[in-house]
Amino acid sequence: MPRQSLLPDVIGNTPLLYLRQASEATGCDIYGKAEFMNPGGSVKDRTALGIIRAAEKAGELQPGGVIVEGTAGNTGIGLTLVANALGYECVIVAPQNASQEKIQQLEMLGAELLLVPSVPYADSHHYIHTAERVARGRASDEPQGAIWARQFDNPANQQIHYDTTGREIWEQTDGKVDGFICSVGTGGTLAGVAAALRERNPEVKIGLSDPMGSSLYSYFNTGELHSEGESIAEGIGVSFVPGNLAGLEVDFSCQVDDDDALPYIFDLLKHEGISVGGSAGINIAGAVALAEELGPGHTVVTILCDPGDRYQSKLFNPEFLWKHKLPYPEWMAN
Ligand code: PMP
Repeated sequence: MPRQSLLPDVIGNTPLLYLRQASEATGCDIYGKAEFMNPGGSVKDRTALGIIRAAEKAGELQPGGVIVEGTAGNTGIGLTLVANALGYECVIVAPQNASQEKIQQLEMLGAELLLVPSVPYADSHHYIHTAERVARGRASDEPQGAIWARQFDNPANQQIHYDTTGREIWEQTDGKVDGFICSVGTGGTLAGVAAALRERNPEVKIGLSDPMGSSLYSYFNTGELHSEGESIAEGIGVSFVPGNLAGLEVDFSCQVDDDDALPYIFDLLKHEGISVGGSAGINIAGAVALAEELGPGHTVVTILCDPGDRYQSKLFNPEFLWKHKLPYPEWMAN
């Protein structure tokens, strides 16, 4: 048996799950990539590994070095686990409004956690700008090196999705994938998977599923960054164009209301035994819209980014949903 950490080897190669109700409703085959089955519970484990491996390759990290990132949760969880496994330290800068479950998990995993006020991106105290400053400070203090993971425009982010997520989707569908759609946090998943699939079949339709409150739907349709409404989905929706999306063109885009996304999450849990978080609901609603656009008989793939239990206090809390005038099923209230 090997005498080194095998954690990196168990990231990725997630199953592709058939989503029965979404498929039956559209006459298409809709599949969800079960990213919640990664060791850190999300699609961001791939990004964490990709960024750390790229920094090692570039000679920016020595054993005991420090990785700093601004993240509301999942990337921090992935980075901390991979850092623990490979002998690095992790400093995570998170906004105070990140879900309690994710903050507790980061503390439990041993990240050095810096909570900052939730302010707009334009404010220099935003958690992403703070992370950049902290990383610079650490880089001059730490002899082993310190990096800012900068997942929004680090090419290693989309590269790992090109190398792994996109390739896996192609192989798992035997190349019979007609459309791929997901939402954007950093855009690493969308850009990397789009490149991998289009390289193998230029006819594959690539879609963006954007939550309310995000500016990307408007950006892809009018060229202007403009947002309306809000969403309780975490980890997705941006008010700027992340570097990962530079040059990306999409064939389809839709804007999804939480009212439409949440029932997919509740039905998936109750009737298909699959527990996912808010961004997966936005993604499934997007997959249904893309399937309707393509017509019956097509195969559409999306991403099931993380598990529902990361959001017990919000998504699965009838009181919270009621306060936010959001729908919840009868079985949840009992
Ligand atoms: N869903 C969740 C729950 C996330 O945490 C993220 C990452 N921010 C995404 C979706 C979006 O992934 P990406 O950063 O690759 O766009």
